[in-house]
Amino acid sequence: MKLICRTCKVEISNELTKLENLSLLNINDGQDYIPEGFFIIDSKKADIELEGAIIINIKDLTNSVYHPDDSRLNGCCGYDGLDGMNRVCLNNHEIGTENSDCWMFHFVSLDPELVDFH
Ligand SMILES: [Zn+2]
Repeated sequence: MKLICRTCKVEISNELTKLENLSLLNINDGQDYIPEGFFIIDSKKADIELEGAIIINIKDLTNSVYHPDDSRLNGCCGYDGLDGMNRVCLNNHEIGTENSDCWMFHFVSLDPELVDFH
């Protein structure tokens, strides 16, 4: 399945499968948290703000750009995601948060109220 923006229905991910083997999650700083091609529904482990967030690999995010509000785009080497959602779909609808700074493991957290499976 793929993820779409709930507002405009544009596809925002590659084909994804639910990750069943949670031992593949990687919590080393600066590395991908989840392998490409998979998603998990988070229980506040990766995204401490958003229970139920859909977590995917950054490389699986498609048709998405950075938030037009620069104040959302802080970070050291990447994006720390600490100032609210920093990713929007191609039509500028907020969809979630990229976490890609050097001192954290890397993933995208998508808000289940704003995206849907398709
Ligand atoms: Zn949209």
